[in-house]
Amino acid sequence: MNTELLAKLESIVSKDLKIDEPMAKHSHYKIGGLATYFATAQTSEEVVELVRTAIVHELDWVVIGAGTNILVNDAGFDGLVIKMANRSIQIDETSGEVVAEAGALSAMVARQTAMQGLTGFEWAVGLPGTIGGAVRGNAGCFGGETKDNLVSVDIVDGETGELRSVSAKKLKMGYRESEVKNKPWIVLRAHFKLEPRDIERNMEKIEDVLQCRATSQPKNERCAGCAYKNFEFADLADIAELVDVIGKENIPPNFIDQKRIPAGWIIDQAGLKGFKVGGASISDVHGNFVINGDDATADHIVQLLAAVKTKVRNLYGVQLEEEIQLIGF
Ligand SMILES: Cc1cc2nc3c(=O)[nH]c(=O)nc-3n(C[C@H](O)[C@H](O)[C@H](O)COP(=O)(O)OP(=O)(O)OC[C@H]3O[C@@H](n4cnc5c(N)ncnc54)[C@H](O)[C@@H]3O)c2cc1C
Repeated sequence: MNTELLAKLESIVSKDLKIDEPMAKHSHYKIGGLATYFATAQTSEEVVELVRTAIVHELDWVVIGAGTNILVNDAGFDGLVIKMANRSIQIDETSGEVVAEAGALSAMVARQTAMQGLTGFEWAVGLPGTIGGAVRGNAGCFGGETKDNLVSVDIVDGETGELRSVSAKKLKMGYRESEVKNKPWIVLRAHFKLEPRDIERNMEKIEDVLQCRATSQPKNERCAGCAYKNFEFADLADIAELVDVIGKENIPPNFIDQKRIPAGWIIDQAGLKGFKVGGASISDVHGNFVINGDDATADHIVQLLAAVKTKVRNLYGVQLEEEIQLIGF
């Protein structure tokens, strides 16, 4: 153990530093080995100091929010895990400007903005996880996406330690994509611009969204949400094999119109609901949920993810891509 490094990390977060911390405690999957150093950062300043320390000490680092979209290796993570617990949310009802720190829960931002007469973020009321995680993967559901009302983010560069403001345009956000995925950037806070609207109407929208979620997803499962991205295509020729095997008349027309086939639907067609590898299985309720049903290891999940991809590719010529973020692999 590097005592100088340890002393420095402790000087930044004090009691919020843990050594050999089980990552299973911090992942919605409840899976994952030990993190050598685990620091909970209560403020953005602490995040920056932690990152700069990791750079100076050439220590591998990774940030996590609420751990709802990660799978951590059984072997753990030999480096510094920074848990984002900077949670302040500032709302200016007059201008519609909202500044949420990366560790703030997306659902909390949705509820608070709606209750203060601002519309545009209600869709996220049932979204698990933090604003930082939502920006990185451009999280979305029920017709809304993180990018819709995003103006800019403040980041710290994990290679240089520099602070920067990056406009939403420069983040090149698309379906479950953003530049944060491609660069060593840590989101410290996000700036949104929402529109004024009656609180009553906002709360109706909140109720609708919660209702939709309650009826469309498995409840209380150890999982990371959708395991695969939905399959996007440019031209019907790209799904020729799928059309051939399943028959165009059996593919819902809106999938074709939107040029996006839900991964869960494809997995269901392949008869893979309930498919198991060790303690990991495909949910019986939703084909795109890979769950830790019975003391699964990360290895079980990874094997299942690979087996499903192979089966779907062999059957329909469709290459699925994981949405889950792997840590320590
Ligand atoms: C039951 C369930 C339902 C879900 N439903 C949806 C859904 O409808 N739509 C949807 O889009 N997602 C859904 N998800 C996935 C998940 O909720 C989102 O991806 C969420 O935004 C992840 O946030 P998090 O804080 O948990 O991120 P984590 O899981 O902690 O991290 C995910 C990734 O983001 C990175 N990251 C986290 N914080 C930061 C930061 N501040 N800066 C840079 N990188 C960061 C991590 O390094 C990791 O790579 C669901 C998950 C579950 C468990």
